[in-house]
Amino acid sequence: MIKSITLLGSTGSIGTQTLDIARRFNFKVNVLTANQNIDLLEKQTREFIPELVCVFEEKYANEFKLRVADTSVKVVSGIDGLCEAASFEKSDIVVNSVVGMVGLKPTLEAIKAGKDIALANKETLVTGGELVLPAIKEKGVNLFPVDSEHSAIFQCLAAAPPSRKIHKIILTASGGPFFGYTKDMLTKVTVADALKHPNWNMGRKITIDSATMMNKGLEVIEAAHLFNVSADKIDVIVQRESLLHSAVEFDDGAIIAQIGTADMHVPIQYALTYPERYETQGERLSLAKAGKMTFYEPDYETFKCLSTCIDAIKQGGLKPVAANGANEAAVALFLEGKISFLQIGELVKAATDAQKVGKITSVYDIDCADRAAREFVYSNI
Ligand code: MG
Repeated sequence: MIKSITLLGSTGSIGTQTLDIARRFNFKVNVLTANQNIDLLEKQTREFIPELVCVFEEKYANEFKLRVADTSVKVVSGIDGLCEAASFEKSDIVVNSVVGMVGLKPTLEAIKAGKDIALANKETLVTGGELVLPAIKEKGVNLFPVDSEHSAIFQCLAAAPPSRKIHKIILTASGGPFFGYTKDMLTKVTVADALKHPNWNMGRKITIDSATMMNKGLEVIEAAHLFNVSADKIDVIVQRESLLHSAVEFDDGAIIAQIGTADMHVPIQYALTYPERYETQGERLSLAKAGKMTFYEPDYETFKCLSTCIDAIKQGGLKPVAANGANEAAVALFLEGKISFLQIGELVKAATDAQKVGKITSVYDIDCADRAAREFVYSNI
């Protein structure tokens, strides 16, 4: 079987782990893209010899071109370049691990080109779910979730026939570094505190999103789209050890869960080899050594991002777009030391409240609501 891969976002955490798998199983990597980390991108280009590389930021693209002038790789840049990369003819599957809203358009381009998608870009479904899912149906392509929770749910659903009824999706959360903190304790936390995740090694944006629980809110929105269930059929539960990656409760009361180490190679590999299961390169989980799994209800009152996202998907339309856009702006401001940790949740809620539900008919609608939410944040700090 496969695979020839287009990898969008090759220098990030998911991107480099995808390349570990490509290296191990000899998958052909046709396309690489990165935002601006051209040092790593050059190493990857020399190792995997892709035909096309996109460096999103133009000034880095120009430098990159000079650096790889001795190779035959074609170098493009910007959103047009990223879309050209996403629709590259010879690849079987597009792994989209771009960070942020910028990931939506390439996903739509890849679908248009008839490519299967391994999706790690949350914003694609959070903001564009109402466009992406119909497009997938129309083109008859496959969408494989890469996020550990959605991969887990996908694996649990594979355990039952398509006629099964989902009683509940049980979406697990680690709770992040501030689990159990009161609002008062959260007034004093710093950027460095927020960047220390107990279980997972991830990029900066998603690590902050884990600390605020925005990440889980975005995942509820994604799950609602991906598995076509309403938000009240999705229960969020804190599972502190990050061993149970999510579960599905079926109509007969049986709960099927997916359990394993906190290693993103596993869901990435499954998305690339589905329905096969190839041998793992990582450590295996010893349940006896792990000893226990502890479960808690999330604190919706203190972690406002989570409750805001759940409200947003219940209302639908442009509400999730606003929540996401406001969060991207607020997290950037928090990382720059311009707002406090608790302000992230307050701004996300206020910006989402300010957005009308509306209707999504095009990417333009999404871009407008996204911009409005960001501007709301900038003008309210
Ligand atoms: Mg996740």
